[in-house]
Amino acid sequence: MTAKAKSSIKLQLKSESISELIRLGEYLLNNALDYQSIDTKNISEDVWSACLKDLRCDSISELYVKIALSEVLVSVVLNKLQGENDVSLIKNIIIKNTQGKPISFAHCCYPIPGDKVSGILTTSKGLVMHRSNCGNLIRAKQKNEQWLDIDWQADENEVFEVLVRIQVQNRRGMLASVANAIARLGVNIEHLEVEERDHSMKALNLVIGVSNFDKLDEVLYEIKSLEFVRNVERA
Ligand SMILES: [Zn+2]
Repeated sequence: MTAKAKSSIKLQLKSESISELIRLGEYLLNNALDYQSIDTKNISEDVWSACLKDLRCDSISELYVKIALSEVLVSVVLNKLQGENDVSLIKNIIIKNTQGKPISFAHCCYPIPGDKVSGILTTSKGLVMHRSNCGNLIRAKQKNEQWLDIDWQADENEVFEVLVRIQVQNRRGMLASVANAIARLGVNIEHLEVEERDHSMKALNLVIGVSNFDKLDEVLYEIKSLEFVRNVERA
């Protein structure tokens, strides 16, 4: 699409929807700045003007509109805004504590600390984190949604959900043994689903809470050591 065609589309937008786009773009950028712990008060006028000029925006409102329409990626704006203080580019935003922040975790891939993760900036669920190889994330990137790579440095006290699939031989007491093995590691089962395969085999889908990749490994190892377990893997 030519720049002219784009601007004529913009002219057709009603003024209410423009103010809606401004609000949306501002929200997405402010959230990203907040995740990155950049205080907007510390960004000088000069840095703002250089950023707007580079991105061919006449005003900050125009920048917000372009962000809302995904014509400009938030990650690009972050780099330009922090240009004065730090010459290195932001490749990842760093996330430490997720509690109390507008961050959610996609249930298609259940990311946990230790995974390579990216986040999609949304207005409904804040930053939605996915594993970098998740199909839904890859499709969102292709659609040019606002995404950011994330360097996730969670502390050990936070617990995240992860989906584990177990194939077991159908035995009396089997569920209790699995539950006990997991409980012994101090891990909670958040959700459990049993799929009947045939009378001899069952599949268990478990959502458990772990602090990171290492804890998950410990759980997988413990489950694998149960004699009636045929296979266990992270979904
Ligand atoms: Zn996902």
